[in-house]
Amino acid sequence: MNEDRARRVPLSERIYRTEAIVLSRLDYAEADRILTVYTPQRGKLRLIAKGVRRPTSRLGPHLEYFARADLMLSRGRELDTVTGAETVDAHLGLRDDLDALGHASHLAELLNRMTEDRQENEAAYDLLARSLRLLSDGVDPFAVTRHFELALLALLGYRPELYRCVGCDRELTATVNTLSHGRGGLLCPLCRADDGGSFPLSVNAQKYLRMLDRNGLSAAARLRVDEGLRNELEGALGGYIRHLTERDLHSLRVWHAIREPSVPHP
Ligand SMILES: [Zn+2]
Repeated sequence: MNEDRARRVPLSERIYRTEAIVLSRLDYAEADRILTVYTPQRGKLRLIAKGVRRPTSRLGPHLEYFARADLMLSRGRELDTVTGAETVDAHLGLRDDLDALGHASHLAELLNRMTEDRQENEAAYDLLARSLRLLSDGVDPFAVTRHFELALLALLGYRPELYRCVGCDRELTATVNTLSHGRGGLLCPLCRADDGGSFPLSVNAQKYLRMLDRNGLSAAARLRVDEGLRNELEGALGGYIRHLTERDLHSLRVWHAIREPSVPHP
C-alpha cells in the first residue's frame, strides 16, 4: 500500500486509518491490551485492542512492541479501538539482539515521556521509525540512541546550545565547558559560576555532540568511542533530559492544581 495514502486518507467520521509504532502495552481484562502508540499525524494515542492475547487473534501478531503497523481504528468514547492491523516493518532484527532491543525500549520510553497525547509531530514519528530500523539493522546502538536523544530535544524545542556560551554569548573554545540544565546549554569557564550544578564536559564529548548536531548519525556511527566517553555522553544527555521531564512534570502538576478548582469538568 502506498505509504502516504495510508497516512492521510480519512475513511469516515468513525473509522480512520493511521500508521503507528507501538510504544508500550498493558494487559487489560481477560484477553485485551491497552496500547500506547505514536502516529505521524495524531502524535501519541492510547488504544484498546480487543482479544489480542488469544492465540487465534488476527490482530495480535501485528501489534508487537516497536512494530510499525498500518492500523484501522474506530473512535470510542474514551479509547479508540483497533479493528484492523497490518505490519509495515516488524523490526525483526530486534528480536534476537538484546542490546538493540534494550535501546529500542529506551527510545520508545523517551518519546512516550516527553510528548503529550494527540500532539502531531511527524518529524518525531519519522525519527523514531528511522532509529528503530537502524537498530534492527545492527547499527551501533550507542550512536543511534545519542542521535535520537539530541534530535528529539531539537524537535521538541529543547535543543541545547553547543556553540556559544549561554552566559556571555562568546563562542566556546576547545576546553572543558559545563552543561547547564537550567540555562539550556554550555557555559564557558568564566561563566561556570552562574550555575554551580552545571556538568563538566570534556573536549571530546563536546566534539561528539557538535558532530551529531551538524552531521547527523552517519558521521557518528563511524567513530570509535571508548567506554569512558560513552559513559560521559550518556550521562550528560540523560541528565539533561531528566531535568527537562522532571521540570515539565512539576509545571504540569502546578498547572493542574491551579486549574482544578475553577474549571468545571465537562
Ligand atoms: Zn561565558
